[in-house]
Amino acid sequence: MKLATKIIIGLILGAIVGLILNLVSPDLFATMNTFLFTPLGQIFLNLIKMLVVPIVFFSITLGVAGLGDPKKLGRMGLKTISFFLITTAIAIIIGLSLASIIQPGTIGTFNTEGVEFEAKEAPSTVETLLNIIPSNPIGAFVEGNMLQIIAFSIFIGIGITMLGEKASTLRTFVEQGNNLMMYLVNLVMKFAPYGTFGLIATAVGSQGYSAIKAMGLYMIVVILALVIHAIVTYGSAVYFLAKYNPLTFFKKFSPAMTVAFSTSSSNATLPISMETAQKELKVPEPISSFVQPLGATINMDGTAIMQGVATVFIAQVYGEALTTMELVTVVLTAVLASIGTAGVPGVGLILLAMVLSSVGLPVAGIGLIIGIDRLLDMARTAVNITGDAACALIVSETEKKHIDVAESRS
Ligand code: ASP
Repeated sequence: MKLATKIIIGLILGAIVGLILNLVSPDLFATMNTFLFTPLGQIFLNLIKMLVVPIVFFSITLGVAGLGDPKKLGRMGLKTISFFLITTAIAIIIGLSLASIIQPGTIGTFNTEGVEFEAKEAPSTVETLLNIIPSNPIGAFVEGNMLQIIAFSIFIGIGITMLGEKASTLRTFVEQGNNLMMYLVNLVMKFAPYGTFGLIATAVGSQGYSAIKAMGLYMIVVILALVIHAIVTYGSAVYFLAKYNPLTFFKKFSPAMTVAFSTSSSNATLPISMETAQKELKVPEPISSFVQPLGATINMDGTAIMQGVATVFIAQVYGEALTTMELVTVVLTAVLASIGTAGVPGVGLILLAMVLSSVGLPVAGIGLIIGIDRLLDMARTAVNITGDAACALIVSETEKKHIDVAESRS
């Protein structure tokens, strides 16, 4: 049986087991969760997280060294960032529009008394941009600061290219390091079906289903917007810009989406999403290793969609109308806010707090959606990494004439 099939079976079984135990015997669920589901999920999460930092370092360094000419990097960077910004803006507009049409906050009664949300402080966008250059690279590795690791790796890659023969041993070291990481990803992925099973069983089993009932329409709007964005925005981008069949794209990339769905973390899924893009979508390594780690940090379309829907939802519940200017502010704040915050579980809510304050809506309103956010986090993370892969594919197709694909993959 193919690994992708096994992962999907793990996911479905996990959901069924979690749901049944939750409904039939919460006590049994608690025991099974402590001794089986959580350990399985945690082992898998740790295994893939273990590879994230070294993979990003080796693959970006090798990728940049493989490009040969720093000018190519500039062009690729421009394409990548433009794609990220435009699709994130589209995503949030879809979220805002759908929520304004369906009006999930006006149907049903929501009790706002006593709801609270304590927002963790998020770094400002300017601060993040200034911090991209790591004053202490070792510190960046230790903290897993993705943007800083990316910046450092780009410098090392450029240095290796420029020094040529003088740094040939280092180039070989990076090449072999990268091979080693790819081998380890394959090895770790053998555990993915069990890990996915555990993670989903925990997520589904620990839900309070009365919360889901109350928030049903909000959830439907978010999921609908996610599906529309994935199919229409990515589907047409892949079709028109990369001349690639969207169905094949989704089919080939689905194993990575499944893992993102179960881990709720773009960062943790990075090793798998890069591998899938390189192996299945045939994105050359220099491009995949540049676009996808960057995307995991700054491109979060699924998260932007949730912010759009949640802002309108909270405004409706609190009976506040949003003016056109405020809607524009929401789009801008959400796009900028997503740049500086890495893709890890629950980050969307921190960003949402920034967006709500930018238009004077009560941050406490997040307390209404927090109970069901874990489930939506799974779906939006799958969309987040799909956007990165679509971008990698498009950059790779449009760069074909500049990069010798066969050479870069050898
Ligand atoms: N979990 C998401 C991600 O890692 C971020 C979020 O929406 O909370 O991409």
